Amino acid sequence: MNMEKNKVLIDLGALSRNLEQVRRLVGRRTRIMGVVKSDAYGHGLVPVSKSLEAQGIDRLGVAWLSEALRLRQEGIGVPITLLGGIGTPEEAAQAVRLGLTPVLYDLSAAQMLASECAEQGRKVEVQIKVDTGMGRLGVSPTNLGSFLHDLGRLEGLVVKGITSHLSCADRPEDPYTAGQIRCFEDVMGSHAPRQAPFAENSLANSAGVMGFPEAHMEVVRPGIMLYGGLPAPGFRAPVPLEPVMHFRGVVLQVRDLPAGACVSYGRTYRAAGPRKIAVLSAGYGDGLPRRMSNRGYVLINGRRAPIIGTICMNLTVCDITEAGPAMPGDEAVFLGRSGNEIITPDQLARWAETISYEILCSIGLRHHRTYVS
Ligand SMILES: *Cc1c(COP(=O)(O)O)cnc(C)c1O
Repeated sequence: MNMEKNKVLIDLGALSRNLEQVRRLVGRRTRIMGVVKSDAYGHGLVPVSKSLEAQGIDRLGVAWLSEALRLRQEGIGVPITLLGGIGTPEEAAQAVRLGLTPVLYDLSAAQMLASECAEQGRKVEVQIKVDTGMGRLGVSPTNLGSFLHDLGRLEGLVVKGITSHLSCADRPEDPYTAGQIRCFEDVMGSHAPRQAPFAENSLANSAGVMGFPEAHMEVVRPGIMLYGGLPAPGFRAPVPLEPVMHFRGVVLQVRDLPAGACVSYGRTYRAAGPRKIAVLSAGYGDGLPRRMSNRGYVLINGRRAPIIGTICMNLTVCDITEAGPAMPGDEAVFLGRSGNEIITPDQLARWAETISYEILCSIGLRHHRTYVS
């Protein structure tokens, strides 16, 4: 039995409706790689991947081999891309054995894979990562010709396509993305073999899926939008997305505060007049960003209540003077829906001056998760 005061609820129905929205945006011919790295952005690697597999996802994307191993152990059979690639002969051996698709960005990894292919008598599918402007992993476009030439001498590697990552697509007005798309197309135009063009080129993350149809290519790689988050808090989503994660605690105590009384460490809040306050069961140790002190809101019985004073390790105080009556044991919603009100990951991210990705990981990874569909 789960005795925790604070509960994370994962709504798999919302996950599948968000996936439907991705399908609507990209059409039936574009394949979808669901990105499930970092424990599916805090939502739970295995349950989320099983749910996506049941909804007919074409591929899953993880950062590391350990995540892919876990998925295969759980019987998940869809193609899996290792977005972070492989770096050791042991990793190469597992990748070949399990039929994973590593992203390649240097020749030494390619050589490890080739010798494993020879050893095991198998082939391995790979994606070539090209840096079109993200400035992170990848082969630079100018070196791609010689990289592919060297790859061509290795046995066992089947190049499925070119892949690259967008750095600024969360700002649709930024012309940088158009430059990255052009660079990607140039690279494909000059390097894809004419007799058998690469079949699975991939460029778009969630921001690319929603903001740049010309970046969709053959495979899209949405992550955050599957979980109902936005690429940046101010981003305008062209489709409705539903938060998948709900984070709830309880009211521990309700108190009347006289005018002039202070709340929490450092006395950063001082009551201007008499207030009614509620003390809640979660703090930064439970994943609530301390930056939300005196800035954020929580939902008590479907009404918004401002957070007052500094957030503590496991306690947060809110002002319920205008939120109506509350009692110890009442539910406090930090993320997700309560009645007709909702706190989205991006609202929370805005109060905390971060992005929804970080919010979801920091809350989700700390708690036992309950799944509903
Ligand atoms: C994390 C990641 C994605 C998904 O990005 P979102 O912004 O969450 O959609 C796509 N591609 C790569 C290479 C990634 O690392």
